[in-house]
Amino acid sequence: MTKTNNILLTCLMMACLNQYCFSQLQPPPGSLAEIKETDLKKDLYALASDHFRGREFGTEDELKAAVWLAEQARMAGIQPAGDDGTFFQFFNLQRHRVSPLSTVEINNKPLALWSDVLVGAAAQASVNAEVVILDKANTADIEKADLEGKVVAFIPGYDSINLNVSFPERRFVTGLALRKYLPLLTKKKAAGVIFIVADDFTERAWTEHVHVTMKRGRYQLYDKQLSLPGRAEMPVFWVRKKDIPSAGAGTSLRIRANIFTESFLYPSVNVIGKIEGTDPALKKEYVIISGHTDHMGVRETQQGDSIYNGADDNASACAAVLGVARAFRKQPAKRSQLFIFFGAEEPYLFGSAHYSHYPTVPLKDIVAVLNADMIGRNSPDSVAILGTNGKQEVSKLLTKLAMEANTEGPKFLIDTAWDNPSHPEGFFYRSDHASMVRVGVPSIFFTSVLHPTYHTPKDEAQFIDYKKLKRITELMYRVAWKVSNLAERPVMNPEFRYRSGR
Ligand SMILES: [Zn+2]
Repeated sequence: MTKTNNILLTCLMMACLNQYCFSQLQPPPGSLAEIKETDLKKDLYALASDHFRGREFGTEDELKAAVWLAEQARMAGIQPAGDDGTFFQFFNLQRHRVSPLSTVEINNKPLALWSDVLVGAAAQASVNAEVVILDKANTADIEKADLEGKVVAFIPGYDSINLNVSFPERRFVTGLALRKYLPLLTKKKAAGVIFIVADDFTERAWTEHVHVTMKRGRYQLYDKQLSLPGRAEMPVFWVRKKDIPSAGAGTSLRIRANIFTESFLYPSVNVIGKIEGTDPALKKEYVIISGHTDHMGVRETQQGDSIYNGADDNASACAAVLGVARAFRKQPAKRSQLFIFFGAEEPYLFGSAHYSHYPTVPLKDIVAVLNADMIGRNSPDSVAILGTNGKQEVSKLLTKLAMEANTEGPKFLIDTAWDNPSHPEGFFYRSDHASMVRVGVPSIFFTSVLHPTYHTPKDEAQFIDYKKLKRITELMYRVAWKVSNLAERPVMNPEFRYRSGR
């Protein structure tokens, strides 16, 4: 055989090898056809229906939805992969709330909790102090006033606060206002603060965004021991201007408040299914495809509706996870897949945080997480795959596979703006993959990002773009197929640094 022939043969062999590798990494058309718009729509409409009352974390509505998802997985032929041979991995949430026995009085007039007064934190406080009214004070006025041992009442200002974010009203009342004034009030040794509600912005925050949520209280992941709330660092009250009587000459205004707390444990659950891989060695490794079950439940009424159905957030991803599972069921890959519907994501990624501490398979055997949250809205031709760009790139190989899958499949325009670490929403850290990235598992996040009905009762099934949902589901499946079959497994980008952006 001549040298030329040798080279020719080598080229031919390489071409075959490339062809072989390429066809290995392209998902089988028969499985792709398993992802059907009709199934996605049916599943999404069911999960986002009023029957599940918005699937609030830590309630029986979330548990009902979890059972429903497990049943869909079972019917699709997915094996249970939770605890004790079931689809379920239970965990507990602790909830701390202001006790209804708490009292707030201004000049002996009792204020009704949540309708006449908002209490800033689910923390104990006992206040019996003179009130200094500064009205429209700026920080210089506060600086000048004698506040030691007194409660100061004023209308909080918006200067130096970025309100160009989602839910500015809620963020302002639940945190930003206090954060702005706390150092100064602490320095002045104030005994507490009354923020006066005197405009539409804070009134809207109260009625449409926070009174039910503040009444619900604060949630934490329970892990072996209950942690009780301590004393408030600075007692905070929100009161309407009409309820702050101006003190007449010679009379002083007084606030008396006794804030007690109550703590509870509630169950929540991750639903976990599995499709076993075909390769004797690689099937011990797992690719996780995930979305969260829970949403906000029944809360503040907006435009006559109080059920927060969470169609996009996150029935859309639950439907997609089921779709991807059905495709793998039709044609398993070399590695195994875990399909996880995380519980209690909304309060602070609790289901995935629990899973990251107590994974159902060895953590080292989880090769990647493909997580989705809100994938059915906005422009039909764009998607964000967070964790694939610049300083936020989690894994070079995952990025490469995701981009290849997009080119071979749906050809979305990739929206990279939300993947910038300085993006004001800090969106990368706001869904369950973040818990897994924190423990070193290469993960990416599929999303069609925020929209005006996000976390409102209007996030309903009729507003979902089902063609787009199908294309994103296909994209997730294509990436999952590649990660499940490639000999090499993704590794963390050494330049990636985890930082909380929430
Ligand atoms: Zn979500």
